[in-house]
Amino acid sequence: MVKICCIGAGYVGGPTMAVIALKCPDIEVAVVDISVPRITAWNSDQLPIYEPGLDDVVKQCRGKNLFFSTDVEKHVCEADIVFVSVNTPTKTRGLGAGKAADLTYWESAARMIADVSKSDKIVVEKSTVPVKTAEAIEKILTHNSKGIKFQILSNPEFLAEGTAIEDLFGPDRVLIGGRETADGQKAIQALKAVYAHWVPEDRIICTNLWSAELSKLAANAFLAQRISSVNAMSALCEATGADVTEVSYAVGKDTRIGPKFLNSSVGFGGSCFQKDILNLVYICECNGLPEVAEYWKQVIKINDYQKSRFVNRVVSSMFNTVSNKKIAIMGFAFKKDTGDTRETPAIDVCKGLLGDKARLSIYDPQVTEDQIQRDLTMNKFDWDHPLHLQPMSPTTVKQVSVVWDAYEATKDAHGICILTEWDEFKTLDYQKIYDNMQKPAFVFDGRNIVNAEKLREIGFIVYAIGKPLDAWLKDMPAVA
Ligand code: ADP
Repeated sequence: MVKICCIGAGYVGGPTMAVIALKCPDIEVAVVDISVPRITAWNSDQLPIYEPGLDDVVKQCRGKNLFFSTDVEKHVCEADIVFVSVNTPTKTRGLGAGKAADLTYWESAARMIADVSKSDKIVVEKSTVPVKTAEAIEKILTHNSKGIKFQILSNPEFLAEGTAIEDLFGPDRVLIGGRETADGQKAIQALKAVYAHWVPEDRIICTNLWSAELSKLAANAFLAQRISSVNAMSALCEATGADVTEVSYAVGKDTRIGPKFLNSSVGFGGSCFQKDILNLVYICECNGLPEVAEYWKQVIKINDYQKSRFVNRVVSSMFNTVSNKKIAIMGFAFKKDTGDTRETPAIDVCKGLLGDKARLSIYDPQVTEDQIQRDLTMNKFDWDHPLHLQPMSPTTVKQVSVVWDAYEATKDAHGICILTEWDEFKTLDYQKIYDNMQKPAFVFDGRNIVNAEKLREIGFIVYAIGKPLDAWLKDMPAVA
């Protein structure tokens, strides 16, 4: 029986390994992590991450051929294939601070693999890493190997949070990069055989190591760039009376462009887009390509601009001040169907409103109060000017309350900001909400999910990103 071990039981490692276990009953999969609470949660009924369909997959295989454990060394030692899916945050200090990937976790995982291994292994990079990481990992492994042979593969994960299980069941493609040597090709085939249990062969792409590593960064950069492009258009739409939904639809009908990922919003978030672009920027700079670096940097700049533009719109519409006004924040996760708040635009929007002394009442169906408080008190790392900002003061924290119901969040509020596109926000009783709010009552739809016309009929003043402004908003221009 082939044994797989995955180091890192996070958003990538957990769901990916659960699906491998489900689709490959002949393979034993152990997911290991140094975090005891995380592993305890994976072994309980309350999994540490929320993903539609994940509970079901885990229930079917856990205890059979899927195991979650903190005994990292034992499982690594026994495995034929070791996936490394540890976190690779952006460096916050030293060389490359604010841009380069911090490979501390990766390096310590590689050293541990070298230490405990007693047999040859295939080591698979699963977490996104900078191009040429494999080379560094290879050096660590071979210099410490005691004669054991390691083959490094790059197998970046393209799943999207919120649809992870669906994406893993039917991926657009699986990408495997390896050395062009005979041993390298053999390792590629071994990993290919795992995916071939359920992925059609023509969807499994085999490349050299560097292409695979770079493809992951490039894919995320392209995706983020699409969002920033449509968001840049949304600002122009508001200024000209065009409707961004109509523009996106017309543009997306061109088969060379395609309709997906063209929704305008308050901005992209998630742990990957910004981090991977910063990383790409850094790699370009290190390779003497400042123009290319500058090009990709703009994608993040537009994203930051979109968030501050939203905050400015809220404040300017409400008579240029939100001081002591209750603002309901609907949705905090970076997108629907996930509880993940990493780099969510809600953090910057909330901080912007708190900076103007608003009182926030936050509701998200999947994010806990603890998490929200942690996110709002955390230092924001300013990637363009690498210095730490002051943490939020305790008085500001008191301006935030987290509730478990949209109606409670909006009661007596002056305005509502919709920051995550949760389906349930589409079907709320907005008449009831309106009746319980201060007047004039505002809705700022950062995801274009509510029916603005219906809400206006009820009496709301509605701002929807990239849509023609109503008379009220035109009279209260946002100052940039
Ligand atoms: P991702 O979104 O890429 O999956 P996460 O941060 O959700 O990233 O998960 C990474 C996981 O890797 C964390 O649970 C962390 O505890 C774990 N981890 C980091 N370093 C090690 C290590 N050396 N050994 C085992 N687990 C590790």
